[in-house]
Amino acid sequence: MKNHIFDTQTRFLRYVQIDTQSDPNSEAFPSTEKQKDLAKILVEELQEIGISDAHFDEFGYVYASIPANSTKSVPTICFCSHMDTSPDCSGANVKPIIHRHWNGEDIILPDDTSQIIKLSEHPDLAAQIGNDIITASGTTLLGADNKAGIAEIMAATAFLQKNPQIKHGTIKLLFTPDEEIGRGTDKVDLVKLGADFAYTIDGESLGTLEDETFSADGVSILIKGVSTHPGFAFGKLENAIKIAGDILSALPKDCLSPETTQNMEGFIHPTQISGIQEEVKLDFIIRDFNVAGLIEKEELLQNICKEIMTRYPHSHVDFRITEQYRNMKEILNQHPQVSEYAMQAIEMCGIKAEKRSIRGGTDGSRLSFMGLPCPNIFAGEHAFHSKLEWVSVEDMEKASQVIVNLVQIWEQNA
Ligand SMILES: [Zn+2]
Repeated sequence: MKNHIFDTQTRFLRYVQIDTQSDPNSEAFPSTEKQKDLAKILVEELQEIGISDAHFDEFGYVYASIPANSTKSVPTICFCSHMDTSPDCSGANVKPIIHRHWNGEDIILPDDTSQIIKLSEHPDLAAQIGNDIITASGTTLLGADNKAGIAEIMAATAFLQKNPQIKHGTIKLLFTPDEEIGRGTDKVDLVKLGADFAYTIDGESLGTLEDETFSADGVSILIKGVSTHPGFAFGKLENAIKIAGDILSALPKDCLSPETTQNMEGFIHPTQISGIQEEVKLDFIIRDFNVAGLIEKEELLQNICKEIMTRYPHSHVDFRITEQYRNMKEILNQHPQVSEYAMQAIEMCGIKAEKRSIRGGTDGSRLSFMGLPCPNIFAGEHAFHSKLEWVSVEDMEKASQVIVNLVQIWEQNA
């Protein structure tokens, strides 16, 4: 038996067996009522360990506070994870399996033996030999994304309650619904939460801190051609479908697309086309790590349109840009201590801290721009949104330790 300071494992096994899949096609909030099943359990558990203000609201958000036990004036720190699981893979009747002291062999999932987790395909497994790995059974996802984060925050909370000698300021807990369908922050009440800074615990590899996301815009191009009966079209017809085709084929072929870029490169990406010869609408997403890069790509796209339209003198194009979200780094740069303290908290666990950027957005990017600066700390979740999802007990315990370290660092620096 290994010694466990944090009870992340038992909590995690309990949470993943509750189906909390969100539904992008639902107009309700939360999108699925069953997410509240987990909210209810979390509130009960928090009250049991003495967090008396724990509750969830009509939208399914769980709010709770750990009162300060320091006399210093310490900023209020929030830890946040999401309760829902991805609509991309079933989350019903999850049967978690613990592979104790994993020896590096392929993990064949028993309920569908074609589902095999291989060291060769999951490089992060190399560091897990000898650890206890948890997987699903082959027919569902596991839900480590993000129930690992929830278990880690809950275990750290229980630990702090039992160890009042550890000094900290006020700590806020926030568990959100519907993150996987992009609505995780839609109904959050930041005034009620009352935190100065926050951390989502929803990252992948041990030791990582993500403090940078894409900045994102949408572009929609509405093409109005000149429509005629095709039998009488000579010299008149300007077919919007062909104009759209010309614009698309003028996009760069060897760069600036999702399939030709990686790391810190951005892209222009058509996502939808609809229409008839009279009118066609093209939708794009534009991504870059900084706003100047976004503008550059939007100008390139606009110039392509202008150039193509010179061939169609009687047609018109309406080019519209909408802001989607912004790189959290713009905000985090104004509060460098938020990431610095997290890096220190990781290193205090004896692991290498590593900053990463996300080629996408997070709840943290939205929260940061809503006034709550919020980078993302690792939770240990891997191969998420799939039946091959896995997490190790050891990584989860390290994440709990990072939370405990982090609240002490904030207190010591106050
Ligand atoms: Zn997640």
